[in-house]
Amino acid sequence: KYFQPERRPAVVTGASSGIGAATALALAAAGHPVALGARRTDKCDEVAARVREAGGEAVVHALDVTDDASVRTFAEKVTADLGDVEVVISNAGAVGPGTIHEVETERFARELDLNITGAHRLVRAFVPGMVERRRGDVVFVSSDVAVRARPFMSSYAAGKWGLEGLAHAMQMELEGTGVRASIVRPGPTWSEMGSDWDVDAAAFVLDQWVRFGQARHPHFLKPAAIADAIATVVGVPRGVHLSLVEVNPEAPL
Ligand code: NDP
Repeated sequence: KYFQPERRPAVVTGASSGIGAATALALAAAGHPVALGARRTDKCDEVAARVREAGGEAVVHALDVTDDASVRTFAEKVTADLGDVEVVISNAGAVGPGTIHEVETERFARELDLNITGAHRLVRAFVPGMVERRRGDVVFVSSDVAVRARPFMSSYAAGKWGLEGLAHAMQMELEGTGVRASIVRPGPTWSEMGSDWDVDAAAFVLDQWVRFGQARHPHFLKPAAIADAIATVVGVPRGVHLSLVEVNPEAPL
């Protein structure tokens, strides 16, 4: 059997919507007991109910990845519920629009804290145990913005470039430990991301994508496509490492 058959408890952050919710469903369908974390636990509960209806195992705990204590408490509760965590999907993230010299430094720092330091908090909470047990998968959900910066979302571009830097360094540090750190890099995907932007800002940013040649394929991916890629990355057997997977929409026929 190509995919790993063992029971491997998995954590998904940002599981209340979009890619995270779809990933919880995909991992559960692949046999992982899943722990869903986000600030909106009511939305996570709805996703967990769908997991259970499909015959899977799911637990929900509140999680704010910008808060050390929240991440620590989440890790303790998940381990008590599901046992040692073997798979961590660092997916929570957000993007705000703005011109670099007009974005307040406080907001810039807050977005970096969510998109980079939030991932580091998860690593601190779960990876020491994985290294000790000599097995585990950590997947960082990046963005194509990490390699093709888009204008008017500079803190997000900086965050995802930084996140990939963290992941590449970690891959080298973990060599030979049995713990795989991987990057999944989605292209534009329909989700709740950007739904808090005002309509004018969203229209302006989309116009700029076109101006800079970044909307060659105006159709977006579905969250399930990214979720399938993530499930594949964590499912390949030991001895194989899908270290970087970029998911793009196929050009229309
Ligand atoms: P959504 O806005 O639908 O999901 C973002 C998730 O992050 C939500 O579940 C939200 O939950 C969670 N989140 C935000 N802040 C925190 C926090 N402080 N602590 C814990 N969870 C938090 O967007 P997507 O599904 O699109 O985004 C998921 C990931 O995919 C992000 O990292 C994003 O950068 C990346 N991505 C998205 C692309 C796209 O086009 N949509 C393209 C490339 C990458 P809650 O509010 O309940 O806390």
